[in-house]
Amino acid sequence: PPDVEILGRSSWTLLHTIAATYPDTPSRTQQADMLRFVDLFAKLYPCWVCADDFQAYMARRVPKVASRDDFGQWLCGAHNDVNRKLGKEVFDCSRWLERWKTGPKD
Ligand code: FAD
Repeated sequence: PPDVEILGRSSWTLLHTIAATYPDTPSRTQQADMLRFVDLFAKLYPCWVCADDFQAYMARRVPKVASRDDFGQWLCGAHNDVNRKLGKEVFDCSRWLERWKTGPKD
């Protein structure tokens, strides 16, 4: 099976970078596309324990896609949910865009 840590780090990089480049005022189509993307991502994520928990999180906290900041904050909350589960530091979500807009720093 794929390395859960390498897979995770690169997946969060992809997801937060998608959030950072999502429009401030997305069209209805862009919002619908994003909902389909995260839904399918959660279904297809190749760490099955992770995928199950992520889908359960999405059922509790429905993805917000009305704007870049809405989606970025939602995703930050989802990532923090995993951080808590793994005993990692919780990230300050007021800093998500600063962290990801110019690309990953690590
Ligand atoms: P990562 O958690 O990969 O974070 C990378 C960088 O993102 C950090 O260095 C930090 O700069 C930034 N960051 C941290 N938190 C946030 C935040 N809240 N918002 C924005 N930026 C942030 N692993 C498991 O063992 N079990 C699981 O159930 C599990 N579920 C996962 C579900 C998903 C959807 C994904 C994408 C990954 C999952 N992982 C899981 C992997 C896990 O989250 C980490 O990616 C992995 O442990 C490597 O951690 P890391 O310390 O390198 O940093």
